[in-house]
Amino acid sequence: MPDFVIPVTLKIFATKKEITDYFNRKPVKVIGFVPTMGALHKGHLGLIELAKQQSTQVVCSIFVNPTQFNDPKDLEKYPRPIADDIRRLEEINCDILFNPQVTEMYDDNEKWHFDMGDLENLLEGKFRPGHYQGVTQVVYKLFNIVKPDVAFFGQKDYQQVLVISKMIEKLHLPVKLVMCPIEREPDGLAMSSRNIHLTPDDRKNSLVLSKTLNWVKENFEPTKIAELQQHAIQTISATPGVELEYFEIADGKTLHPATELSESVVALVAARVGKTRLIDNVLL
Ligand code: AMP
Repeated sequence: MPDFVIPVTLKIFATKKEITDYFNRKPVKVIGFVPTMGALHKGHLGLIELAKQQSTQVVCSIFVNPTQFNDPKDLEKYPRPIADDIRRLEEINCDILFNPQVTEMYDDNEKWHFDMGDLENLLEGKFRPGHYQGVTQVVYKLFNIVKPDVAFFGQKDYQQVLVISKMIEKLHLPVKLVMCPIEREPDGLAMSSRNIHLTPDDRKNSLVLSKTLNWVKENFEPTKIAELQQHAIQTISATPGVELEYFEIADGKTLHPATELSESVVALVAARVGKTRLIDNVLL
């Protein structure tokens, strides 16, 4: 292995035609794809690093997808620091940025429905109606444009990984899905583009989420699921400034409540900390 890195120039495409023409001119053995909504942090960069190890060229997309927001205010205040994002992508030698406008991705009044069964109405689906329809809609479109061989998604959005995996399976999409571990701040808070909205008080209060997940992990025994869940709910609900939406110890495949027969188990939490909605999870 050489001990130097040859810098690549980041190619930036804003249209489907540009990216399609590029890959037609220059076929690539393994296209790795990291879809994001930007405001890139170490969590995203970890996905890109992993993608670089497993692909010939890496495409990162930055697109704040309107159809997955059920709250227009949330969409409006979503951070969009594109110049910083481009600098970060250049620094880590990402090959291609796909950064389309909304009009490039959607026609007026487009219809979409993907039957993902129960996953649509559980946990995130229950608190964000329509969210996973928007997610599958945009990821399907992005897969069609980028045509990746491998796509990298974060465990941070665990339910999203299950939903995309179901879409790949049901629609027979020729993409391999890789789930990457959660990147955290040194004190445990899961990195998120939304963390910049936390006030100093929110930032302190937010730690109850990762601490409680860790406590559950340390004390986990399949026979104690109900007890652990109850204790976790009490701890988070008792924290000032934190409004719990759900804390669930769930089967890692179905996201139904875990039982002693579950082959994999995951604890998932969502809460509003001040005005910011945060999610986190841990595999048990
Ligand atoms: P987003 O820009 O929030 O839509 O996230 C884009 C991708 O990055 C998704 O696959 C997320 O799961 C992943 N991601 C976000 N935050 C983290 C994190 N802290 N650690 C690992 N992956 C993350």
